[in-house]
Amino acid sequence: MAATANPHKLAEIAAILGSSVELLPRPADLGEIVEDGDTLEANARLKATAVGNHTGQPAVADDTGLEVAALGGAPGVRSARYAGEHADDADNRARLLAELEGAADRSARFRTVAVVVFPDGRELLAEGMVSGTIAAAPVGDHGFGYDPVFVPDGGQGRTFAEMSADEKNAVSHRGRAFRSLAAQLGL
Ligand code: IMP
Repeated sequence: MAATANPHKLAEIAAILGSSVELLPRPADLGEIVEDGDTLEANARLKATAVGNHTGQPAVADDTGLEVAALGGAPGVRSARYAGEHADDADNRARLLAELEGAADRSARFRTVAVVVFPDGRELLAEGMVSGTIAAAPVGDHGFGYDPVFVPDGGQGRTFAEMSADEKNAVSHRGRAFRSLAAQLGL
């Protein structure tokens, strides 16, 4: 099954789905997929459909947003480009911490929508969420994206970037979404 170009995500998804599915990285010659949907679901479907049409295989994709209560749910579907069109992970984290400077409420949640699209057009969809808070400063060097600033509830105050991959997958938005998808796939 063809999937994401992001090696961190690919490793997480492979660990969650296990060995009964062979996951292949998104073909390099497909190029960038413009994620201009208004919702996580629209973007996940857009990515899976593009990969599926290109490869002729079942394709899986996910889209994730970090939803911060004090920011009215932002950055949400715009999480990847929060600090601008060419922002990297560090830029996005820096903007988030700046926006939350002095905020009393630092509660947030990650939400993932995962979609499998089959060559005949059928699709399966699943959602996963994890609640937590935004740290005062980045801590830890595992994971990717907003992991160093996200402290999941029930994790003894550690950020996702301080956890092993298995610990993160056990409670994460993506772990929950893909385990639900795996159940629907009968895996
Ligand atoms: P996308 O789902 O790849 O479009 O990711 C949207 C944004 O959320 C990007 O900035 C990612 O780095 C970030 N992101 C996605 N999944 C995670 C995660 O598991 N931890 C931290 N950041 C994430």
